[in-house]
Formats: sequence, C-alpha cells, structure tokens
Amino acid sequence: MRKPFIAGNWKMFKNMAQAAAFAEEFKKVYSPSDVKVAFCAPYTQLETLVKAFAGTGIGVGAQNMHFEEQGAFTGEISAEMLTEIGVDYVIIGHSERRQYFGETDETVNKKLHKAFEHDLLPIFCVGENLEERESGKAFAVVEEQVKKGLVGLSAEQIEKLTVAYEPVWAIGTGKTATSEQADEMCGFIRKTVAGIYGEETAENLVIQYGGSVKPSNVTELMNMYEIDGALVGGASLKAEDFIQIVNF
Ligand code: 13P
Repeated sequence: MRKPFIAGNWKMFKNMAQAAAFAEEFKKVYSPSDVKVAFCAPYTQLETLVKAFAGTGIGVGAQNMHFEEQGAFTGEISAEMLTEIGVDYVIIGHSERRQYFGETDETVNKKLHKAFEHDLLPIFCVGENLEERESGKAFAVVEEQVKKGLVGLSAEQIEKLTVAYEPVWAIGTGKTATSEQADEMCGFIRKTVAGIYGEETAENLVIQYGGSVKPSNVTELMNMYEIDGALVGGASLKAEDFIQIVNF
C-alpha cells in the first residue's frame, strides 16, 4: 500500500519569524495519521523548522541543492549541508528551477544521484507547459523527463523516491488539472517507471500531483487511484488551509 504524502512548497515565502510562527500554529492543529507530511522551506528557515517539528513526525525539505559534493560554486548549497542540519527531503527539478534557473534533465539526474548518496529523500518534479499540453506533446515531454531524470538509479533508490507531477500551466494559476487529467498522467508516469524498473517497483512508487491544490479540490484528487499525494504551493502558506489539505 502506498502511503499518502502531502508536502508544502513554500517557494521564496516566509522569513524566520513567520516560519517559526507557522510551525507553532500548525503543531496545534496537526495530529499524526497515516498521511506523511513535510514542508519544503527556504534554506535559511530549514533549521528553525527541523527544531520546531522534532518529534512530531513532520518532515522538512529543501527546494533545491547542488549536485557536486563541494567546491567553488558561489551561492550553492550541498547535500551534506542539508543533512547536517537534519533535513529529510529535497525537491529536485521543480519547473520554476527548470524555467528560470537553467535546470535540465541532466542536472536533475546528477542531483538525484547526489541526494541518494546522502540519504536525502528526493521529490522529483516533472510536468509539461501549456504549449506542450495544447499541442498534444504532454506525454512525450513527461516521458523524456522521467527517463532522463532517472538514468542510472537503482530500484532500491526508486523505492525511496517521490515523483511530483506538476503541469506548469496549473501552478499558481488557480487552474487545476482535472482529477482525470492528473490521474491519467500519474498513471502514465507509473507505467514509464514500470518499463524501466518493473511492475512491483512502479506499483509502490508514491506520485504526487501539484498545481493549485487547495482544500476544495484535494479530496477529489486524492480519491484518484494513481494520485498518492500533493505538492502544495500557495495553499501551504496558511496553517488553516494546509491542515485541511493534510486531513483530506
Ligand atoms: P501552487 O499550489 O501555488 O499552484 O504551486 C504548486 C507548486 O509549484 C508546488 O511545488
């Protein structure tokens, strides 16, 4: 059985005081259940969250990292720097990094390898943009992202991977993919993974949907067979919204 996994992606929102206040508010309303929960926060807020959520079962993740161990890479953060402060997860290949910061399938692949080397649990993002969806290329685009992203990873590593399907046209636009569209692509991702790693590995793979997930649409999305979780941007910034999503 795949365990539901709901993660918040705060993007470049919340300073330290706001992050600490959020954590206190969220802990008051959160009770542990079968749903895994994590927050992916800006680097400078990670340690605050790790401390605030210690002993709660709530995970903490970064939103990016570099693929080299260390070196002259001004402005970058390494996997070891994240694990040193107790970070559990790392988002790799978010569409905003692909779109604005030159992330490619090749750098995504290197980052996935490096994350596993350090026992960080990656949330690997894929998804097509509007033009690709409208021209009927969505499945080909996502297939290529999945295949190139996973090159050289072992089945044991895939067992620890989370994939997030985030259609770019649904991110921050208020336009959610229909539950059928999201389910169809998550099923396609599972099939693609089955083609490389076999049915059993694919059947156990946790696949999230992301793109304008909110309290009003989360239940319908989570009821779909292929969708095992959500990667939530805007609606993860308010404890009162996010707790409703977690308690879908
Ligand atoms: P929104 O939920 O704000 O659409 O963002 C989705 C996202 O990009 C999560 O990584």
